Amino acid sequence: METLLDVRNVSLSYHTAEGETQALSNISFQVKKGEFLAIVGPSGCGKSTLLDLICGLLTPESGSIILSGFQKGKDRAEIGYMLQKDHLLEWRTVYQNVILGLEIRHQLTQERKAYVNHLLALYGLDKFRKSHPSQLSGGMRQRAALIRTLALQPDLLLLDEPFSALDYQTRLNVSDDIGKIIKREAKTAILVTHDISEAISMADRVLILSKRPAVVKDLVNIHFSLTNRTPLESRNAPEFKNYFNLIWKELNDHDTSLEGTNPVSEKEKA
Ligand code: ADP
Repeated sequence: METLLDVRNVSLSYHTAEGETQALSNISFQVKKGEFLAIVGPSGCGKSTLLDLICGLLTPESGSIILSGFQKGKDRAEIGYMLQKDHLLEWRTVYQNVILGLEIRHQLTQERKAYVNHLLALYGLDKFRKSHPSQLSGGMRQRAALIRTLALQPDLLLLDEPFSALDYQTRLNVSDDIGKIIKREAKTAILVTHDISEAISMADRVLILSKRPAVVKDLVNIHFSLTNRTPLESRNAPEFKNYFNLIWKELNDHDTSLEGTNPVSEKEKA
């Protein structure tokens, strides 16, 4: 598989009036086209900083970040961002929300409109196109937010804790739903999460970061003996517990400040 993203020896420190905070130290990894990578690490270790570097909001102090192998005809890779809050605008209908990015970029062509309509129909939002966000369930809102991002046909999707505002039950269903859509659309994605179970259930590989300044502790390949792997089914696969224990151990190794060692994960560990 072709490499889409190559992060090489990246370091970054924040400089403020209070002094210097080294966030990332010598981080290297690659993401292949169509791959789903999850990044886990303690709170404040630099996960969001890494996403900000990848999308170009920040520049590495040293090292390089190379995005290549993106869609032909473009001069740079298109990056889509999905955040904890869906940021849907209540005064716009679902349809007006999902075309917002295209409108802003003056890319609302017939072809793009047809693609949006295809996504709305395929993912069950067609009959809600004239509804407003408050009329949708939490899961449907996230789906609308994803379609708004997919409408821009991104080469790389960055997901920064997109499910953490949802309750446990909804979170399981929405992550299953969003994970299936991303795979079906063959998108390359990077998910930042503090939930080990979520990372294992959704990702092809899990990158484990140490506490700040973050270094790469491990990169774990996730493989399940399932014919039709979905995030929900993965949680019941026999291999799941082993991956959980491995990542749990790595995160807790010399590290007591772990975020996300929550009852959810404990439940699944048992
Ligand atoms: P994570 O996403 O893993 O919780 P962040 O990337 O948000 O971690 O932050 C990494 C570290 O850098 C933290 O200690 C945070 O306080 C610090 N930091 C983040 N943004 C800034 C900033 N703009 N200025 C100064 N320090 C920052």
